Amino acid sequence: MHSGLNLIGGEWAPGSSGATFRRRNPARPGDVIGEFPESSAADVAEAVSGAAEGARIWAATHAEKRADVLEAAARWLESRADELVVELVREEGKTRAEAAMEISRTPRNLRFYAAEAVRINGESYPAADGGVVYTRREPVGVVGAITPWNFPLNIPSRKIGPALAAGNAVVFKPSPVTPLLAQRLVEALLAGGLPPQVIALVHGGAEAGAALAADERVAAVTFTGSNATGRAVHAAAGPTRRAQLEMGGKNPVVVLDDADLERATQIIVKGAFGLSGQACTGTSRVIAHRAVHDELLDRVARAAEARVVGDGLRDGVDMGPLAAGFQMEKFLGYVRIGEEEGAKLTTGGRRLHGEGHFVRPAVFEGVTPDMRIAREEIFGPVLAFQRASGFDEAAELANGTRYGLSAGIVTRDLDRALEFARRSESGLVKVNQPTSGMAMTVPFGGLKESGTQTFKEQAGPSMMLFYTQEKSVYISPS
Ligand code: NAD
Repeated sequence: MHSGLNLIGGEWAPGSSGATFRRRNPARPGDVIGEFPESSAADVAEAVSGAAEGARIWAATHAEKRADVLEAAARWLESRADELVVELVREEGKTRAEAAMEISRTPRNLRFYAAEAVRINGESYPAADGGVVYTRREPVGVVGAITPWNFPLNIPSRKIGPALAAGNAVVFKPSPVTPLLAQRLVEALLAGGLPPQVIALVHGGAEAGAALAADERVAAVTFTGSNATGRAVHAAAGPTRRAQLEMGGKNPVVVLDDADLERATQIIVKGAFGLSGQACTGTSRVIAHRAVHDELLDRVARAAEARVVGDGLRDGVDMGPLAAGFQMEKFLGYVRIGEEEGAKLTTGGRRLHGEGHFVRPAVFEGVTPDMRIAREEIFGPVLAFQRASGFDEAAELANGTRYGLSAGIVTRDLDRALEFARRSESGLVKVNQPTSGMAMTVPFGGLKESGTQTFKEQAGPSMMLFYTQEKSVYISPS
């Protein structure tokens, strides 16, 4: 069992109150991953004080040196990839393949932002008096990073990477569901040569997160998580501090009548049941043209039944457990809601025997836009089939929720695909691809209630704008 610690003011330490929480393997709850501090608001305040000092050190460190640290942290993670994969499977419940994907991506994220560190630049204009006006991009100071559990390395690396590249210090408050992997990321940065005052780690839950968001000394709060928490974080950050929120989705895949149904089935199943349905960009609705609806439903239901559910460390398993007991209760609750609302449960939707949080993926048919299972984020392997009479209705149904994270279409008609991309009210549009999955090179973020519309970028070079502030300098000849 791992004994987790906070990192505050450059020192590893238990929480000041002595309270702790335990994290257990969701496949085998008897397997305790570790015990971690349940940090209080006082711990967070101390972490922010330490980071304020760290921010001064780091802002004065040359960009090339900052880049070197991120690069060295990336190498540290790669050198421990095999152990990290096993820890990630045990802590979160991913399959081995899913964990390996996350472990290989995280160093790439760090390298991407290492390269951005040396590209931070400004503009300069000649002035009428022979002088110059130029802009400087500077670090904002202390960044607060509050993160979810479903990508415990990848998501924090896309926040901490650019924050550090830009010369800020970070106070990191990871999810209490995946504290060990969060700690590993911090260890990687320290091993890469980051001065320990520049990053603080405070384990814990809502109390620590709320204290971090509310601390006036935190210049920018970057948050990924649920809509309810995101709203609280935004309110706590107030009007004068930066807040960047990435929140939930209710992501649709539209399947048109010309689609290759085998391909469509693969795309849907990967998007809906990958990560046991616990991806923000996961597919939760299928909007099928009536000409292909029944055959597609049959294929998807059979593919769902063929999923091998089990401990992700076992060979041949392609869907791990849900990450926690509360996730399983939510899944079972929504299956009940769907049945009560009159949708037909085509397959799955039940808990498997045994102590782990294992469920069979659920597929509903006859879902109408007013049903809660068509509107609310479930964050579990529940797929709602909706029937459309043609392209226009399908595009309208796809946009019919308050969310706008990712939307897909499966078709061989390029004109329709382009028209869908134009009409879509989602930040990501996927043509003949699962709704899940992202590229580092372009902005990632949701429209509508899936994210803040200022600083929505969670990837790509434009992400650096959130972590830097701009100054205009006017110089005249003396
Ligand atoms: P969550 O909102 O419960 O928790 C997110 C983080 O906020 C955790 O670290 C948590 O401890 C902290 N927190 C809880 N209460 C807080 C408060 N009052 N103030 C400040 N912080 C607080 O979300 P989760 O269950 O960890 O993650 C699942 C959610 O995250 C889903 O809604 C999913 O869609 C979303 N998500 C979005 C993206 C994206 O990029 N859009 C990516 C991954 C996950």
